[in-house]
Amino acid sequence: MSDRTAIGRNIAAMLFATPSLALDKIADWRWPHFAATELACNCAGRYCTGRYWHDPAFLDALEDLRARAGHRPLIISSGHRCAQWNAAVGGAPRSLHKTIAADILLSGHDRERLEAAARAAGFTGIGLAARFIHLDRRARPARWTYA
Ligand SMILES: [Zn+2]
Repeated sequence: MSDRTAIGRNIAAMLFATPSLALDKIADWRWPHFAATELACNCAGRYCTGRYWHDPAFLDALEDLRARAGHRPLIISSGHRCAQWNAAVGGAPRSLHKTIAADILLSGHDRERLEAAARAAGFTGIGLAARFIHLDRRARPARWTYA
């Protein structure tokens, strides 16, 4: 199996994980381009049952970003992570994925334009990787690249 195939398969596994989630418990869902399942933990039942961290301001910022990024889909490869899943995928111990952060695939987007749009939409934690951009809303702005 080529690396590319393996990566594609891993991304597909992340995208199509369907955590058991009581979506009906979230009243007044008003973010048309995002679903709670996209932001729920991807551990697929290994450590949790698809935990989801609801932050309306974060979702507002995602919708704003999508509009600023040319109204093209934003594909989230990682949102909330339960503590065990965060550790399993090598996340930083104090990663904001343990509350809410989003890794968005760069495919179909210009990296510089997406980063600028993310800043304009109010994201203050920005991590750049080859295939995704990490976004969160932290008190003290930070920008980093992944090795
Ligand atoms: Zn989990």
